[in-house]
Amino acid sequence: MKKIIALMLAVVFALSMIACSSDNAKTTSTAETKTEAKTGDADSTNKDEKKTLVMGTSANFPPYEYIENEEITGIDAEIAAAIAEKLGMKLEIKDMEFESIIPAITQHSIDIGLAGMTVNEERLESVNFSDSYAKGVQVVIVTEDSSIATIDDLEGKKIGVQSGTTGDIYCTDDYGQENVKQFTNGALATAALKNGQVDCVVIDSEPAKAFVASNTGLKILKTTYADEDYAAAIAKDNEELLKKVNDALAELKSEGKLDAIINKYIPAEGKAE
Ligand code: GLN
Repeated sequence: MKKIIALMLAVVFALSMIACSSDNAKTTSTAETKTEAKTGDADSTNKDEKKTLVMGTSANFPPYEYIENEEITGIDAEIAAAIAEKLGMKLEIKDMEFESIIPAITQHSIDIGLAGMTVNEERLESVNFSDSYAKGVQVVIVTEDSSIATIDDLEGKKIGVQSGTTGDIYCTDDYGQENVKQFTNGALATAALKNGQVDCVVIDSEPAKAFVASNTGLKILKTTYADEDYAAAIAKDNEELLKKVNDALAELKSEGKLDAIINKYIPAEGKAE
């Protein structure tokens, strides 16, 4: 009988040791997770435990987002990285078509959209926007020999736009769907202008400058089509992230970091304002 009791005690002791050591393991992994979230340099084996800010963009909108050396770079990528750093998070960027960004936010497959995205009433019905971090301007690109000299000359012309953008929305409203040709991105719209498929392209001024610089025979009209505000889009049910992003943006503004990022890509004399 004594032997049986001794054996039982031994089993209970052994079991309690196992329980104790697995508790230690749990504590260690929690501590590790916290450090990773803070430094943001965790290895990929603990990916699920890392806090990641997933940003959606459409990397064909220079200098806000474009691909260089197989990496997404540009103003929005850098601003998002600076926000993520302030939030103690790791940034992951997902590239997609511009029109897919808002649906991806509402379906929560991404946390935030930064894509030179203009704040407008229609989008505000689906998502929240952060405070604005940059100004946008819609301009008109034409061929150097074009008869289009001002916005008034657009009537009856074939207008190329990037599908789902504000340029698309304004032109469809002002000139009718039948006069507007939609392209998946600005580079394709610009190529269509060069080969005569459209008479002009209405698009944001900074990518317009980049497309005109990388093509011959194109120019931007001096008259602008619309002035806009760019902001980050966030799900309506994620007020917490909205607040954190606005706080981070305010800090980046007051530290001069926001201007530094924008000035790096857009020289002061070329600014929209
Ligand atoms: N600013 C425009 C918009 O929000 C275009 C943005 C873009 O093409 N990335 O519709």
